[in-house]
Amino acid sequence: MIHEIVPVGLLQCNCSVFGDERTREAIVVDPGDEIERIQAILTRHNLKLKAIVITHAHIDHIGGAAKLKAATGAPVWMNASDQELYQHLDMQAAWLGTKTPEKTAIDVGARDGDSLRLGEIDFHILHTPGHTQGSVSIWIPMENKLVAGDTLFRDSIGRTDLPGGDGRQILRSIHDKLMPLPDDAVVVPGHGAETTIGREKELNPFLQF
Ligand SMILES: [Zn+2]
Repeated sequence: MIHEIVPVGLLQCNCSVFGDERTREAIVVDPGDEIERIQAILTRHNLKLKAIVITHAHIDHIGGAAKLKAATGAPVWMNASDQELYQHLDMQAAWLGTKTPEKTAIDVGARDGDSLRLGEIDFHILHTPGHTQGSVSIWIPMENKLVAGDTLFRDSIGRTDLPGGDGRQILRSIHDKLMPLPDDAVVVPGHGAETTIGREKELNPFLQF
């Protein structure tokens, strides 16, 4: 499977482009900004976008969704519990001191247990609230890979002091949904370097009890 990770925008959100070599279909996760770069990757690999998946409605992860959808026609997946945050994109833009990007309708309400298929590979939606109420992680068992959004980072976890954040809930999500994954599963966080479930279990200071 093709997988390119592009840090985009002011806050360098890790945008993932997944592509299937046989069907030439693609899934993009968290197109926060710099949509031209994302489109260039799709073009370079001759990929047709099948779905846009949003891990949560913070502007750095969702800011470019409307533009990418307009360019490709691909449906946008996002958990419904982040709809209210998305409604306040203008407020989020003001906090960051940036222009409010265009908004789009959410086409599919990415719920816990939902899955998408790319070629032979299944992408499973795990609802992992805490950073925001609608935060999801994407588990790809056949690739042994997790796209964690801002729920889990290398040596850290997502902040919970913003609207919709809940410190106990994010820990519960990590323990119940992410820690049971294989220790050698690769974690692609919403920002910064990759890690593994086992490494975070052992060394992440927020997960030591
Ligand atoms: Zn966030």
